[in-house]
Amino acid sequence: MRSLNIIILGPPGTGKGTQAQKIAKKFNLEYIATGDFLRDFIKKNSKLGKEVKNYLDKGELVPNEIINDYVKEKLNNLPELRGVIFDGFPRNVKQAIDCEKILRDTKRNCLMVINIKSSEKELIRRLSGRKICKKCKRIFPNPKINMKKCSDCGGKLIIRDDDRPKVIKKRFQIYTVQTKPIIDFYKKKSNLIEINGDQSIEEVFKEIMKKIKK
Ligand code: AMP
Repeated sequence: MRSLNIIILGPPGTGKGTQAQKIAKKFNLEYIATGDFLRDFIKKNSKLGKEVKNYLDKGELVPNEIINDYVKEKLNNLPELRGVIFDGFPRNVKQAIDCEKILRDTKRNCLMVINIKSSEKELIRRLSGRKICKKCKRIFPNPKINMKKCSDCGGKLIIRDDDRPKVIKKRFQIYTVQTKPIIDFYKKKSNLIEINGDQSIEEVFKEIMKKIKK
């Protein structure tokens, strides 16, 4: 038996977090979001946490070692047969190479990469409207203005600090220069599935399911 392991890629705001959470539920995969890990880490208020916050506030990538150490530890502590889905990792080609090694070392040989494509105009509109639950991290892509609490766990809904216009612009630049080249990296390995992200959440999910099953 082999575990199913998935990487979900796409520019900021493309809905990859929402889709990753849905896929994790459907296939019972461990959902690993490096952005959530970093935001929780910052809350601990350590010296390193303050340095990490600086990167997030500017929309820049934190150093690879911090991320790789976290992913390694997380996978080492999971049973081999438990598949994972990564949201926000890898973020550059170096991390993609390291990711392959970490997966190999933990005997996870089946890797599927999903790339959700979207137009930049649509993405900026989405990012400016979204909120997340502070407690369970559920993403609410376009909540009603008076919706203050998570409908799943009752946690407080907040706007992420880096979903402000200036930081959004920076995150797009970083995505184009550092993260987009990963797509070619996986294209060459022919394990990339491309999805049209300019559809409703349910339609995107349906397209993903169809292509995974294929
Ligand atoms: P996300 O929640 O995935 O949008 O990530 C929010 C922020 O966390 C990013 O803008 C980066 O500053 C940082 N971050 C998340 N994942 C990574 C990663 N794999 N490598 C470096 N920085 C990351």
